[in-house]
Amino acid sequence: MRFSDIPGLSDIKQRLIHTAKQGKIAHAQLFMGREGAINLPLALAYTTFLHCTNRGETDACGQCPACSKSLKYIHPDTHFVFPVSNVKGDKDDDRFRADMMKSWRSFLVEQPFGGPGDWTTSYGGEDKTAIISKDESREIVKALSLKPFESPFKIMIIWQPEAMHPSAANGILKILEEPPQNTFFLLVSNSAERLLPTILSRTQQLTVPLLEDTEVDAHLSKLEANAGKRAKAVANAEGNLRLALSLLESDAEDHHERLADWLRACYKQDAVKLYTLAEEFHEMDRLQQHALLTYALRIMRETLLAYAGATTLLRSRENEQEFVQKFCKMMRLDSLEQAYQFINEAGMMLERNGSAKMIFFDTSLRLGRAMN
Ligand SMILES: [Zn+2]
Repeated sequence: MRFSDIPGLSDIKQRLIHTAKQGKIAHAQLFMGREGAINLPLALAYTTFLHCTNRGETDACGQCPACSKSLKYIHPDTHFVFPVSNVKGDKDDDRFRADMMKSWRSFLVEQPFGGPGDWTTSYGGEDKTAIISKDESREIVKALSLKPFESPFKIMIIWQPEAMHPSAANGILKILEEPPQNTFFLLVSNSAERLLPTILSRTQQLTVPLLEDTEVDAHLSKLEANAGKRAKAVANAEGNLRLALSLLESDAEDHHERLADWLRACYKQDAVKLYTLAEEFHEMDRLQQHALLTYALRIMRETLLAYAGATTLLRSRENEQEFVQKFCKMMRLDSLEQAYQFINEAGMMLERNGSAKMIFFDTSLRLGRAMN
């Protein structure tokens, strides 16, 4: 993450850059923000800037070896602490820690504006409380006892310090107050009111506000989205970038439910249900009908890729991935290819202005036969 990847917040960015240039970096800073504030991205961009060996006026260079590591979140002088729950009950601490670190890096890369819920969902821990355990304070002290490897600085980012077990919080009080030279703590909190006063009093506090609508809009404008949809997402997100991004995607969500429903009915060869669905699809406008078929083709392509074992190529979101995996197990390769072709043909027939009801009903029956 670099400053230029973050919309808005120019005052705060300037202030952070200024501290780095003056060499007046507070040894423990608390980046506070409400849910949806982009305080974690800001702390990450600040870290990239601090480590960069070829800093520009307003940002890290993005090219030097330090930046290249920072952008992949593998810089040896950046340490991360974040809440987790041991959902698999792994007894081997080191392996568990390494697994979680891997998940954490993927999360940062894939969902740069994700929140606590996105994080726990990303490793399958959504129904368990994630905490920063008391062992973690020992790890923090251990990690900071070594000299920096490559950078002049060592940076310890603690995300959601409010999730620290009280004994973990107490375990870091001393080092938080007097860290080793050139070591900086960046605490990133969404509910600072839950922090122990002893932690709060040891940090310099920085409030990261939610974004202005124009800033959210500027960010969304970089993505492919129609103007109406974008305006709606901006209006409903109220400065929460994460929410705006998911609102922008929510049409895909509708298609996902619709497609899953449709394919299930095809599989069951449930003629009554299929006829009702065909009528429903008929009522949608052409654009939506095409969007549904385009979406179906994308899911089929992803399933074909999954079939070939190319899971790393999958760009689908979590509920889609689950669906793709199930679909993959259910379908033979040749019937999958057939299904792809039927949906493709349905799209062409729609383009020729055929009756949507007949096209969808006919395609449903063909899909049903292919699946069974
Ligand atoms: Zn650099």
